[in-house]
Amino acid sequence: MRTVLIINAGSSSLKYQLIDIDTESVLAKGLCERIGIDGKLTYQPTGGEKFQQESPMPTHQQAIELVLGVLTDEKIGVIKDMADVAAVGHRVLHGGPNFTASALVDEKCIAAIEEVIPLGPLHNPANLMGINACRAAMPNTPQVAVFDTAWGMSMAQKTFQYALPYEVYEKYSVRRYGFHGTSHMFVTGEAIKRLGREGDPNVKIITCHLGNGSSVSCSIGGKCVDTSMGLTPLEGLPMGTRCGSIDPAIVPFLMDKMNLSIKEVDTLMNKKSGMLGISGVSSDFRDLWAARKEGNARATLALDMFALAVKRYIGSYAAEMNGVDCIVFTAGVGENDAATRELIMQDMDFLGIDFDFELNRTAPRGEEIVLSKPSSRVKVMVLPTNEELAIARDTASIAL
Ligand code: AMP
Repeated sequence: MRTVLIINAGSSSLKYQLIDIDTESVLAKGLCERIGIDGKLTYQPTGGEKFQQESPMPTHQQAIELVLGVLTDEKIGVIKDMADVAAVGHRVLHGGPNFTASALVDEKCIAAIEEVIPLGPLHNPANLMGINACRAAMPNTPQVAVFDTAWGMSMAQKTFQYALPYEVYEKYSVRRYGFHGTSHMFVTGEAIKRLGREGDPNVKIITCHLGNGSSVSCSIGGKCVDTSMGLTPLEGLPMGTRCGSIDPAIVPFLMDKMNLSIKEVDTLMNKKSGMLGISGVSSDFRDLWAARKEGNARATLALDMFALAVKRYIGSYAAEMNGVDCIVFTAGVGENDAATRELIMQDMDFLGIDFDFELNRTAPRGEEIVLSKPSSRVKVMVLPTNEELAIARDTASIAL
């Protein structure tokens, strides 16, 4: 059996998934929490019972060793020994300008990820801890870094450039990168397959990754043309707790009026804004819809603003690409929230969209489905994202 271990390392947590690369099935998944504090391991073999254990894990390396221990455990494991892990794929947030695609991990790759820590100060150091831990625990197993920003690297300069002094771009690499790249890449590839247009350089797709964090992206021939997040994931749509695009002059204005530090204004925009900030109710769309049904005006406003923002991106991307063949909804909201999809899709017929509102209302949650009518020029579909599988596929194609 050839398996790929997928690692998503945070500063004190580590999510993992073991995928059989030949059948593309998940063998087991789980989570290490509170690394460096006390330590808790969760392990769930597919079809088996969930296993939890409080275990000291002072560093990421000990966490990885515990994961390898349960994966190869005689009783609850899913593989015989570590040699069954053919490669490890790491999710890395920011590749900066250095990476246009996934890369085999070596000293040069690690140095390049370190170099862009200023662009991903919270995630990149944690991602590197995961990489170093796996290299120490499995020195002979190839490792691959899969970057969330790689998808956006095919954007033209006129698209990624900010209209700031040019030296800001040259000196500090300040440009738009985009995030959720692994998800946009995955659902775009799947949509192209569903349309039967593999290899077609003209197929135009808009992907709406709507979850707690949200972004919209568009592609021609499977290559990203534009994407709504920027230098950081703050740009673009209003999200669960992020404000999305605002007039940048609001930042110094608020720092002055509210006497905020750089850190405080950053927290205000990332953690206290978006759906939560507007509604005062919640960042979760289920809570917002419940409040809206009870007549809560601010929850209603938040959902209307969100739908309008998605609609604006769809419209502007259709203009940017001179058309669109397919619109994809994915992630927590995109896959599950029919009411939000309905709000977004209202009055979009001018684009050649004939959306089946009735089917949308009765569509099963979280499942692949075409929601446009057969007569619709633009196909609208829900495609569940699977970032781990995308990482596994990239890892296998590079390392095996
Ligand atoms: P994600 O970040 O992709 O995991 O998406 C998480 C978000 O999806 C949650 O915060 C909810 O807002 C939303 N969500 C998940 N399930 C549902 C549902 N059944 N109805 C509405 N929204 C949902």
